[in-house]
Amino acid sequence: MAVHKQQVLVSRSKLHAVIGGGGLAGSLLALVLAKRGYRVTVLEKRSDLRGKDAPGGRSINLALSERGMYALGNVGLAEKALKQTIPMRGRLIHNTDGSTNFLPYSRHPHEFIRSVSRPGLNRLLLEEASNHPNIKLFFECSVVEVDQQEKTIVVQDAQGTLSKRSFDLLFGADGAGSAIRKSLGLESADVFSSEMLEHSYKELEMPSLENGDFAMSPEALHIWPRGTYMLIALPNLNRSFTCTLFLPNDGAPGFNQLTDADTLRAFFNDQFADAVRLLPSLEHDFFSNPTGSLGTIRCSSWTTSGHSLLLGDAAHAIVPFFGQGMNCAFEDVSVLSEMMDQTQEIDWPSLMGAFESSRIPNTNAIADMALENYIEMRDLVADEGFRLRRRVALELENRFPKQFKPRYSLVSFERVPYKVVQETGRNQSEILLTLCQDVTDFEHVDWTLAEQLVSRLPSLDGEAH
Ligand SMILES: Cc1cc2nc3c(=O)[nH]c(=O)nc-3n(C[C@H](O)[C@H](O)[C@H](O)COP(=O)(O)OP(=O)(O)OC[C@H]3O[C@@H](n4cnc5c(N)ncnc54)[C@H](O)[C@@H]3O)c2cc1C
Repeated sequence: MAVHKQQVLVSRSKLHAVIGGGGLAGSLLALVLAKRGYRVTVLEKRSDLRGKDAPGGRSINLALSERGMYALGNVGLAEKALKQTIPMRGRLIHNTDGSTNFLPYSRHPHEFIRSVSRPGLNRLLLEEASNHPNIKLFFECSVVEVDQQEKTIVVQDAQGTLSKRSFDLLFGADGAGSAIRKSLGLESADVFSSEMLEHSYKELEMPSLENGDFAMSPEALHIWPRGTYMLIALPNLNRSFTCTLFLPNDGAPGFNQLTDADTLRAFFNDQFADAVRLLPSLEHDFFSNPTGSLGTIRCSSWTTSGHSLLLGDAAHAIVPFFGQGMNCAFEDVSVLSEMMDQTQEIDWPSLMGAFESSRIPNTNAIADMALENYIEMRDLVADEGFRLRRRVALELENRFPKQFKPRYSLVSFERVPYKVVQETGRNQSEILLTLCQDVTDFEHVDWTLAEQLVSRLPSLDGEAH
């Protein structure tokens, strides 16, 4: 058995896997393949992040949850990654009158999400990859074309020089605007759709106070929900917060209206009065940071010819309102690596096909749920009815832990497939609406009816990946 395993490793080590994109998904995938004996080349368009600050000196952070942590654990990086994170135990809602409400994410103390620096996490993965003998990293190298017949790619370096490289396996982890996807012919109308949101985002910095403390509680994801738009803030290790304004492109208010410093300040004074005094560089940040667009990309085909595969945002970019884009991209890598481990001699064309069939229903489900969550974050969290339903949901979990785990928890604290979560969430939502329809306070919820309704739900046991 030991000899056979070694032979497989030798034959794998002859395979040369090229990964286009050394972002979060690409650098994690490099580690997974290298640990299984593949020779891996990572081609990254940007310059080497290691030792450098984020673009424009901005701190860009993300919410990391169970799916992402699990994937990092699989390559032995859970502990190092954890050191870079700050726990966020719930949403802190900032109302227009300056009052706040804390809505916990869970009733279990061990269930929370974590704020992490995107470049920091990418650096950690690249650092680990650069130390692996099977991995070669090339920066300022863009994949511009793929020849599937010849199994070659054309790469452009920073000077604009073009060169050819060959591959046995090609992975497109080059993000939402993937050049690999385009070159593989996976952008035709029958397999590809891109829906842009009519809202965009802008990042703003909230520095630490003069005494070095956080300006607000670091234990929460802060939200200023304002109906058709919102401001959010996540904490950074340097005790600053990165705030993100999500706003319609055109409207009242909209990005099209905020064109001068006076209008901008008046809008913030009116809508985010408790935040504005903590944003000393509001005008500078707003007018110098780029306005980011948001959209959903769905592909019904991620693989061609059995030797090329898309994953991460290149295959399924989603809007950021469930905090799952990176977590889902990392989960792609975990699922692929589990599928690789299930077979001794990998037949890549069938493995890529099976991967695509198993992942697409799940990535479509999280794309839908992320769109729904925008309405929850920017509007519903300020609504009394929503808060009652949320409290009832946590109590149902308390009373019926085998049958009821709120949708947010299933997405963020479990690895139940997204498609199953989506279906479970629909059933739960009906139960919560029934229980809360004529009720204005928690004390009047009919728990006998709750038991009857919940008993009809399938058990959640055994639904993890
Ligand atoms: C505002 C905002 C907030 C977000 N918040 C969260 C969150 O809280 N939690 C969460 O899980 N996700 C979040 N996301 C989503 C998350 O950022 C993405 O899902 C994640 O970065 C996807 O990783 P990726 O490696 O697939 O793509 P990317 O991170 O985009 O990496 C792609 C890499 O490929 C490189 N590249 C591009 N073209 C080429 C080429 N032709 N050749 C070679 N290299 C190339 C790029 O330079 C880049 O390094 C958020 C996204 C946004 C916009």
